[in-house]
Order: sequence, then structure tokens, then C-alpha cells
Amino acid sequence: MYRLDQENKRLFFGGRKLEPHSVEGNVTGFCSDCDVELSSLAYFRVSEGWLVASRCGGCERMILSRYDPSWSWKGDFDLEAAESVGSANEGSKTSGISDLPKEQLEAVFTPAELRDMERCVRGEAYTRQNLYRARAKYEKFERLFGVRIDI
Ligand SMILES: [Zn+2]
Repeated sequence: MYRLDQENKRLFFGGRKLEPHSVEGNVTGFCSDCDVELSSLAYFRVSEGWLVASRCGGCERMILSRYDPSWSWKGDFDLEAAESVGSANEGSKTSGISDLPKEQLEAVFTPAELRDMERCVRGEAYTRQNLYRARAKYEKFERLFGVRIDI
């Protein structure tokens, strides 16, 4: 079973993890289900040649095509979306709150709390009380918006 982490375009199969060689978006063919164009999501270099992950613009089905080193098509495989395990495993807090909608953050946290949460993420000096107050609201934020903040 092949799985693609759509966020960082890593391919998982048979216990292996492949980083993309390129993430160019090219037309790679047509969907066998709905005849809409397939666009590439990522290209992977393997010892047998190439693997190309594509998604159908119509039904959003993902497939993985295998090519030999001279780009002769060898076959298609089903491709499933993987959980974004990469970022979870690395325990990255750097994304912090910067990718959350401002309106959501401002609905729960005060400007001072947000400022100090950002400072904490960047490793700068911050006011502890503000971060403590913010942390006490993480549960509320999760309840409202379904996102667990980890700062
Ligand atoms: Zn399709």
C-alpha cells in the first residue's frame, strides 16, 4: 500500500519513506474513472526508475505511476492519503499559531497573550503570566475550533 503525505509530499510504502525529488505539477495522463486530467503532486527517484504521485482534478482520486529509468510506463498503483506523520513525529512547535486564522485566535486570546505565544515559539523573551493565561485557554480553543495548540 502506497500512502502520500499531502502536506510535505512524502511517500510511505513497505516501511520506507521517500522524500520527493520534485513537486512539479504536470499533466501526467487521464483518470481511468472519470477521464479528467491527472496532475502530478510529486516525483520520487527509486532504484527501479521513477514513481509519480498524481491526483485527478475531477474525482480527486490519487494514483502512483511507476516508470523505468527511461520513462517507460510500468504500471499504476492506488495511492492513499497519509496522516501528516512527519510533522507530528518531529514534534515541531515552530508552526505554532502562525498558520491558524487570526479571527479564531483573537476570539479566545488577548493581544498580549498572542504576542507572548509568538515570542515563546520564536525563542524570544516573553511574559510568563501571559503564556500561563493563554495555556489555560487551550482547551477552550480546541473545543471551539478543534485545534490543539502546543506552545
Ligand atoms: Zn477521476
